[in-house]
Amino acid sequence: MDATTAAHSSTLPAMSRACNPAYIGAVDLTLILGPMKSGKSLELVSLLSPLQYTDTRHRVFQSARHVRDAGVVSRSGAALATVKANSLAAALDEELDVVGIDEVHMFTLGDMDVVRRLLINGTRVVAAGIDLDHRGELFAPVRALLELGPAAVTYRRAVCDRCRSFSAVYTQVLEHGEPMIRELPPSTALPDDGTYTYEPRCRTCVVLPQFTPRPTPARTGD
Ligand SMILES: [Zn+2]
Repeated sequence: MDATTAAHSSTLPAMSRACNPAYIGAVDLTLILGPMKSGKSLELVSLLSPLQYTDTRHRVFQSARHVRDAGVVSRSGAALATVKANSLAAALDEELDVVGIDEVHMFTLGDMDVVRRLLINGTRVVAAGIDLDHRGELFAPVRALLELGPAAVTYRRAVCDRCRSFSAVYTQVLEHGEPMIRELPPSTALPDDGTYTYEPRCRTCVVLPQFTPRPTPARTGD
């Protein structure tokens, strides 16, 4: 391969590499990211559900904190059998070819180290989750996954619940029907138990804590 070819192939987009059979072995970490209602689960189901008809050893993990569904159920009704877990550590206890992770933002940084070890062991990982937290910033586990150098990242969008444009990239957190502008610690994974409600919103319609005037906090520590 001459220098020109090498330079060209190194700049191929990740998805092109993923579609090229020569690179299939390199598709070790796949991420599906976006706000709620962006079809992440549908994509996870379509990627992983064929595995149940193969000899591929696989398991799909879902955070035990996720109470909405039993199993990954896309809004189209397609389903995927899952293991509810508080941590991903169990994935290292068995020989698996493929590990799927749904709602990956609800897991911890320690769990992302499990992902790193799975990848080193040759296990393929497909993870889906919400990328941006209530402040519009990356969830720490998602940032850690991006730092692992995924082979393919799919950013999905949803229809904005306010203006109906197909450009929602944020998940608006609502408390008693109003945007929650209290700033919680970074990367706080909010419960899906009815305490808050959530809706996809575009950049124009989203209301984020850091864009809201607020009194200077009386800091005592940092
Ligand atoms: Zn909008």
